[in-house]
Amino acid sequence: MDVFIEPIGRLINEFSKLPGVGKKTAQRYAYKIVSMSEGEARAFAEAILDAKRKVRFCKICGNFSEEEVCGICRARTPEQICVVKEPKDVIALEKLHEYRGVYHVLHGVISPMNGVGPDDIRIKELLARLNEGVQEVILATNPDVEGEATALYIAKLIKPLGVKVTRIAHGIPIGSELEYTDEVTLARALSDRKEL
Ligand SMILES: [Zn+2]
Repeated sequence: MDVFIEPIGRLINEFSKLPGVGKKTAQRYAYKIVSMSEGEARAFAEAILDAKRKVRFCKICGNFSEEEVCGICRARTPEQICVVKEPKDVIALEKLHEYRGVYHVLHGVISPMNGVGPDDIRIKELLARLNEGVQEVILATNPDVEGEATALYIAKLIKPLGVKVTRIAHGIPIGSELEYTDEVTLARALSDRKEL
């Protein structure tokens, strides 16, 4: 027995797919959409489609980009490469306005339990970037079990190549995510990084 008429039920169902949105919140969002003017609703829908059409991944670093190569890769020299799990981690680090190097987004971490091996994330692509200009690789995967294992795996591959490898971790509570770490803690974790 569905108490909602079909178009509203469908909208609730779509909003429920978003992270952190439960049934109640999805209902509130759906009511809000229905109460919008047609113009507002169209702008909302078009923003979703536009983002989907225009956002792709930088072919160098894997970050979100509108172009083939992202603004960060175009503007900065790759002396330092900061390795992160997801594009949203780039945003978290960029908000600090402290780091001036480039990034490498792995699009995942090694997770045997979830069937994710080293070849399933962008490790090969990282190794391919380690030319003579790169002086340091900063491993900034989350300080949880999978993030640590991934950092160690990458460090083992890179160290023999003579590139300095560092790991951020200090101050970030074990098991937490970069995205939700406050900026002071994250900035300290970055500046206090340790060589592996
Ligand atoms: Zn890029």
